[in-house]
Amino acid sequence: MEVLLPRTLEEALAMKASTPEAVPIAGGTDLMVEINFDHARPEILIDLTRVAELASWRLDGDRLFVGAGMTYARLLRELPQMRALAEASRSVGSPQIRNRGTLGGNLGTASPAGDSLPVLAAHDAEVVLISAARGERSVPWDAFLVGVKRTSARPDELILGARWRALGGPQSFSKVGTRNAMVIAVVSLCFALDPEARTARVALGSVAPTVVRAPEAEAFLAAAFEDAGVWDDPGAPVPGGTVEAFAERVVAATRPIDDVRGSAAYRRHAVRVLAQRALRWAVGERATEAMVS
Ligand SMILES: Cc1cc2nc3c(=O)[nH]c(=O)nc-3n(C[C@H](O)[C@H](O)[C@H](O)COP(=O)(O)OP(=O)(O)OC[C@H]3O[C@@H](n4cnc5c(N)ncnc54)[C@H](O)[C@@H]3O)c2cc1C
Repeated sequence: MEVLLPRTLEEALAMKASTPEAVPIAGGTDLMVEINFDHARPEILIDLTRVAELASWRLDGDRLFVGAGMTYARLLRELPQMRALAEASRSVGSPQIRNRGTLGGNLGTASPAGDSLPVLAAHDAEVVLISAARGERSVPWDAFLVGVKRTSARPDELILGARWRALGGPQSFSKVGTRNAMVIAVVSLCFALDPEARTARVALGSVAPTVVRAPEAEAFLAAAFEDAGVWDDPGAPVPGGTVEAFAERVVAATRPIDDVRGSAAYRRHAVRVLAQRALRWAVGERATEAMVS
């Protein structure tokens, strides 16, 4: 196996252009498992760990750009204010995996159980791709994640990172698994309120071939908050039955299957519980803020 060692993004892109079959490797926490189990045997690897341009983040106004090479450990340390992203990062693997595993690797693997992906989906993130021939292009998250472990990246492209508008309201990431650490999600859910745009966002992992949003649930909740005056007055009571009705609509957006990690019926139940919990947390957080401010 040949391993290419670019030191700059320019070198990495030139290598990917001349050898599009070369497989990028970042933390290796997905790819090395594939290689160890003989599920993949790439002839050429491009090791991206020395490419500093990938391992950075920046905030331009309210737009956050996170480079593909940012590890979960760094996301937790450097961007704790991005609550859902930090909570998702904290839930990944073990400290060793969080020190190596990257956002770009989670995107590249495109597993429906990837923990960062519901967070990106809830934020309507765009994935930024780059090639030597065409430069940068941005693709909405749902045009990038096209199937189980399938993306729309072209052979000569690398994932540069992801970009999204930082949201001002409460947000959370939660995950159900067989234990608290080192676990692949049986179900995951990212919930976010965007009081500025008066919208609610909910995205789910491990319940369909790709991460999905629940647009009907989101529209229902936004309208319920409007009717009850919750957008204008965070302390206003949420009408009885709203939380349950919202959760039912979230469940309706899922297409779970039975597999080794859980049955479809269990997944639907777990989604219902997580959706109710996430909404109650968010409503409680806004009400508390309204009380103390
Ligand atoms: C013990 C263990 C526990 C784990 N726990 C979790 C968990 O709880 N949650 C979770 O979501 N995942 C988990 N994972 C999976 C893995 O850690 C994550 O998916 C991680 O984000 C992968 O990042 P990486 O940098 O290691 O990717 P790599 O293995 O280096 O690469 C993964 C894929 O992305 C591609 N790729 C990487 N970077 C780029 C780039 N810049 N441009 C184009 N393609 C690129 C690679 O070619 C490859 O196809 C776990 C893995 C292990 C081994």
